[in-house]
Amino acid sequence: MLVAMRQLLDEAAKGGYGVGAFNVNNMEQIQAIMEAARETCSPVIVQASRGARSYAQDRYLYHLMLAAAELYPDLPTVLHQDHGNSYETCKSAIDMGFTSVMMDGSLMPDGKTPSTFEYNVDVTQKVVAAAHAKGVTVEGEIGVLGGIEDGHGAGGTGLEHVTDPEQAAKFVELTGVDALAIAIGTSHGAYKFSHKPDGAVLKMDRLIEIHNRLPKVHLVMHGSSSVPKELQDIINQYGGKLRPTWGVPVEEIQLGIRNGVRKVNVDTDNRLAMTGAIRKVLFETPEKFDPRDYLKPAREAMKQVVAQRMTQFGQAGHAADYQPIPLAVVAARYAAQ
Ligand SMILES: [Zn+2]
Repeated sequence: MLVAMRQLLDEAAKGGYGVGAFNVNNMEQIQAIMEAARETCSPVIVQASRGARSYAQDRYLYHLMLAAAELYPDLPTVLHQDHGNSYETCKSAIDMGFTSVMMDGSLMPDGKTPSTFEYNVDVTQKVVAAAHAKGVTVEGEIGVLGGIEDGHGAGGTGLEHVTDPEQAAKFVELTGVDALAIAIGTSHGAYKFSHKPDGAVLKMDRLIEIHNRLPKVHLVMHGSSSVPKELQDIINQYGGKLRPTWGVPVEEIQLGIRNGVRKVNVDTDNRLAMTGAIRKVLFETPEKFDPRDYLKPAREAMKQVVAQRMTQFGQAGHAADYQPIPLAVVAARYAAQ
């Protein structure tokens, strides 16, 4: 059943676990996530970036998600807009039936230029008003993440605009967001760190500071693929050319989860897993030309990564803990606040 992300994250906070948010662009990726969730009995966050919505077209994506909710009625499932760049993008997602949206007002609508605090508060307030009226959850962002993915991002290492705890507190108070993405040195894309990250590049101490200042706020870690060497190796073994790179180690994410992180965004690891599996089939059996011959192992490879993350983040086993609250009821609760 499709549910509001707020409920999922409230439950995750009660249970002291994190929930992976996995990006989708097509049917195989949605199937991989839903099968991993079924196997591990996990609540699910599926997210679509603007790039995904234009690649797949909104209606295809939405109906694939409806199919998922129909096929897996026992799994609470969130459909989330990743990095909305404007009120209009978020509004169109809300109108289409997404149960959660991210308004990334840390950047201007071009998705590249860092914005002012005032702009961020203003645009996020507008999205919160429209979303909460429908029971839809809002994730905001304060501080600016590094890297670029799907044409979105300010670039850089992610250390230029690390989140300030006082500003974060002010932002949450002014906007009423349900979840807060913070910048602690993580970046989008595969090339996050040039060595195994230490405290100089991955600011877990800052995350803990923010959590101590805002103990009740659900924190979101973006750019949190671990970029495991084994997945890089498979790609390179079968003709790929990835440069050596490091992601966010799972134990750092788990430290975050012990300190208020409830949503963990993972995309690159799934991209690597699928690409490696496809390369392997095409390399080993060049005579094959049925797309199912390589999409099936690609889907299976992604399912394994997702299931592993669901277990590592602690959401496994929690799908049946609670009854989904209808969005209309959630909306009424916001209105009564
Ligand atoms: Zn992100």
